[in-house]
Amino acid sequence: MAKKLVLAVVDAMHPGMLREAMDSGEAPTFAALHERGRLIDDCVSSFPSVTPVACSEMLTGVGPGSHGVMGMNWFHRLERRYIEYGSSFEATRTFGLFRAMYDLVYNMNLDHLSWEALTVFERLGDAGVRTATTPFLIWRGRRRHELGLEGLARRALAVANFRHAVYAPDEFFYGDLYASRPTGCVSNMGRPGNRDDYSACVGEELVREGAYDFFLFALPDNDFHSHRHGPDAQVQSIAKADDAFARIVEAGGGLDSFLDDHAVILTADHAQTPVEHELRLAEDLGADWRVLEPNSDRPEHAEIAVCPTSRAAAVYILGGGPGHAGAHRKVADRLRDMAGVDLVTWLADDRDRPVIRSGVGLEGSGEGTEAVVVCNGHELRFNPGGATRDRRGGRWNVSGDMEALAAAKGGERFESEAYPDALGRLWSALVSPHAGDMLVSAAHGYECTDWGGVSHLGGGSHGALIAEDSLAPLLFVGCGPDEPERNPQWALRDLAPVILEHFGIGLRWPS
Ligand SMILES: [Zn+2]
Repeated sequence: MAKKLVLAVVDAMHPGMLREAMDSGEAPTFAALHERGRLIDDCVSSFPSVTPVACSEMLTGVGPGSHGVMGMNWFHRLERRYIEYGSSFEATRTFGLFRAMYDLVYNMNLDHLSWEALTVFERLGDAGVRTATTPFLIWRGRRRHELGLEGLARRALAVANFRHAVYAPDEFFYGDLYASRPTGCVSNMGRPGNRDDYSACVGEELVREGAYDFFLFALPDNDFHSHRHGPDAQVQSIAKADDAFARIVEAGGGLDSFLDDHAVILTADHAQTPVEHELRLAEDLGADWRVLEPNSDRPEHAEIAVCPTSRAAAVYILGGGPGHAGAHRKVADRLRDMAGVDLVTWLADDRDRPVIRSGVGLEGSGEGTEAVVVCNGHELRFNPGGATRDRRGGRWNVSGDMEALAAAKGGERFESEAYPDALGRLWSALVSPHAGDMLVSAAHGYECTDWGGVSHLGGGSHGALIAEDSLAPLLFVGCGPDEPERNPQWALRDLAPVILEHFGIGLRWPS
């Protein structure tokens, strides 16, 4: 019988900051776990390295090309509107509070997250393993939960169509909307800075009651703290996450007793880098193109849609038709020269025309389809299946200028320290059904202002393809491979198979 497993996710925890917090004594519980486990410092996030994309990858074992969740903001081609998950309160208000909340709460899990990409909650539920989670963006599972609110709040939300029962883990807590059991814990509508406290309170109850086999213990406050005060200030918020973890350990009778019947994975969805400049993509492109406005009732009049997602972005060419290739080239030329843009990438067909996407899926993308990557004046092309191997064992055809991805290509190896797992992550993002026609990764120090006009200037952010945004710590205690150091490049999509294997479910996952 496998031990229970806790997956603790500290949002945006930077691997160097975790080390600092442990070494300075600010994170004694994590340090004690580290003494008994194996720590990897370079587990690669998804691209864009933002929470919805990364958490979907973590829980499904596949990248955005298969799970379908793209960024904090993206354009829905069939519905001809922006999807906004809440980049900031101002962005939420721009699109309408209820509409953004509806996309976040219901559509992300029940529509945008592909039904072919099963979550670990679904896989474990099918195998009879009891699952639990504190509030986390991705939660699709096998147990039905009714909306938890009562009285006036319930009637008010019903007007905004917040009325649905959902399928989620056996034990499911989501703000004030869903709670699978009474805990007496106060969520304060998920107010940032209070969320770890709520998770810890719920976690204590679940540990005391032995209410799960697999428990996703989400600690989101570090991301908020680091956005505001910068990544160098993380030690303080990692210390708070450590406190929260210590509370569930105490509820389990102290560390020795807790680890007698628990294995632990401690990780993060991405890291953060400092923000010194704003990249006003919609405004800059708006000087030359008619950019789709939020909630526009004449979407057919717009030429492009612009989707900022922290330190990454997507641009969609609207309208299709014979003008598509020309418009695509002009926008790509503009983006590549723009200050703050590090990298622009898109898919081209075997005649070097940009691949046209309509609705969902890639139409006309065949054998010859290539990704084009333009970065720092260099251009590189690649597609899957060739003789060149990356660090994860992926096989690629690569041509052009390796400097575009700061890569060394020695013989049949492709290595880039600056852009970890670059080919795999870019390809998965580009072939995602909802991907933009062009994807952008921001330069060091830049963040896109969101549709509410907000950035984290003076603080921190993430989303880019570069290593500093993308590498997360990954600590195994009592689970995972015996020598995780032997895996040359861990990625978030490796976690789902490790979790399933822990419970004896030996599925092979596509990479
Ligand atoms: Zn964030």
